[in-house]
Amino acid sequence: MGKKTNLLTFLIFLGLVLGVLVGHYALWDAGASPEGREQAVAAWKTMGDLVFVRPLRLLIIPLVFTSVLTGITSIGDPKRLGLLGGATLVYYIVTMIIAVVVGVTIGAIFQPGSGFPDDLRASMSETAAGMVGGISSEGGGLSGAWLAILHQMIPINFFQAAVEGQALSIITATIFLGVGIVAIGEKAEPFTRAIEALHEVLMLLVQWVIWIMPLGVFLLVAWAVGNIGLVTLTKALSRYIVCVVGGLSLHMFVTLPVVLFLLARTNPYRFMWRMKTALLTAFGTSSSMATLPVTIETSTEEAGCSRRASGLVLPLGATVNMDGTALYQGIAVIFLFQAFGIDLHFTEYLAIVLTATLAAVGAAGVPGGSIATILIIITAVNSTLGASGENAPQLPLAAIGLILPVDRILDMCRTMVNVWGDSVGARIITRLAPDEEEEREAAYA
Ligand code: ASP
Repeated sequence: MGKKTNLLTFLIFLGLVLGVLVGHYALWDAGASPEGREQAVAAWKTMGDLVFVRPLRLLIIPLVFTSVLTGITSIGDPKRLGLLGGATLVYYIVTMIIAVVVGVTIGAIFQPGSGFPDDLRASMSETAAGMVGGISSEGGGLSGAWLAILHQMIPINFFQAAVEGQALSIITATIFLGVGIVAIGEKAEPFTRAIEALHEVLMLLVQWVIWIMPLGVFLLVAWAVGNIGLVTLTKALSRYIVCVVGGLSLHMFVTLPVVLFLLARTNPYRFMWRMKTALLTAFGTSSSMATLPVTIETSTEEAGCSRRASGLVLPLGATVNMDGTALYQGIAVIFLFQAFGIDLHFTEYLAIVLTATLAAVGAAGVPGGSIATILIIITAVNSTLGASGENAPQLPLAAIGLILPVDRILDMCRTMVNVWGDSVGARIITRLAPDEEEEREAAYA
């Protein structure tokens, strides 16, 4: 296993490096017209989707079902389940709030948007105006977003939810089913055993798909780099990019490792290294949801998380726990207000912290999932500003055009932090719920 894992790691890094080189020199730098380049580059994305992202997505719903169910039936005792569920939710919320506060603080101190060139601002927000109209008319603000989440959590048709890929619906329905199975006890055992067997099979399929990952990462990274080029990161956006990447790095390499060490007494960097396959998949796919099968496999097979903890923490985490997204949204919104010369004060910062946390919960774990929710935050800050007087300045929603050109690259980074946050949660909960009672001791080591 060791040798195989090393080979896979080597191939993935190779795919990453080749992807950057090919993307920059062969796709971006090729000198074709912008339209020609766009078409050529799109073909790379299509190939990456076909060989890697689609097979992973195929496994998501069945795997969410089997891992949540085996997690719950193996925990058994409803009281213990309640305790673990509560601990998991507290972990999600606290780490997301820390992430947003870090993002907002960085935005307020380093002012990434101040002095943004006027002409660039006008042309970039113009291109987004049409798109924003489409998104915001669906919106319905924060309360609408919450109602949509509640509807997903209480589905009326299990199979429809599965067909539509509504992971949150599958999770809550499966928890419901799992609690029923526990209550029935012995009679349900044949069913539980069949689900466990299915779970093992699905995990094997994930291991097979992981071997395509080097190719998938190569194709998708080449596409992302080819699309924007390494040097397009003009001066105007470079401060913004440095702030986002700096904030995400702080959360990934300092905050969460400290939390992991304090709560689980685990060496965080060794754990991070063991989780690398999942973290790199997140980077390559920009989707916590598509990464979920790999996160489940890596955390239990390589990184010492219990199946119980992973089954509980990871599927739910992929849809609601998004530290990277929360942090990113904080900085992005502040950047936009600064770029439009609108001053923010404590009340607005507070509004950003609250709405960005909720918006990160609501964002879907798909590429660009947070773009729609950023509009919700902007609307909330606008109304806070509006409350301070009639002539208060307002940020047009089309402002989002300023950050779209570099969104994919930042999406790759924030998705990696999202998946890292879920993995740390699974490792912490493993301490409360090791697979076997006798492993409890080992989990403390
Ligand atoms: N792509 C992110 C994820 O899947 C969501 C986002 O756009 O921030 O976790």
